Amino acid sequence: MTTRQDKYDMIKKFGLNAVTGDSIREWAREKGFEEDVDELHEVVDCAVRLAHNGTTTDSSRRAHATIERLFTLAQVGLIISELGEFVEAVRKPGPDDKCPEHSGQKAELADTIIRILHLDNRIDGAPIDHVIADKMLVNEGRQHKHGKLA
Ligand SMILES: [Mg+2]
Repeated sequence: MTTRQDKYDMIKKFGLNAVTGDSIREWAREKGFEEDVDELHEVVDCAVRLAHNGTTTDSSRRAHATIERLFTLAQVGLIISELGEFVEAVRKPGPDDKCPEHSGQKAELADTIIRILHLDNRIDGAPIDHVIADKMLVNEGRQHKHGKLA
């Protein structure tokens, strides 16, 4: 009998990010979705070369960290944008205009997940499918509706 723990272990072994994570990051780079952030990092590196003979400083480390934080926020904006497109697909059901073999709702959910996996690939730590499995295991011990009304 397969237990939930077995299923969570399978998620970690064969999960979504294990299959798609690297290719989504590769796709995002090929499509130019990381050009802006790469250019900003290059500007900081150029300033470091000019002002400090290439020696990294606390201010350059902070600048790189700030760029990453702002890029993360931009990524969240794109995720929210895809969810807005999902809402519109609910309001106007039917096939997706760019991928007509799927409904607009499924296509927009897919776009949202692609954006989330791209963001996950840029954040340090375990792949998101490992975190999902761990969170689901933690949620096993939580109250009905996690102690809330909805
Ligand atoms: Mg979309």
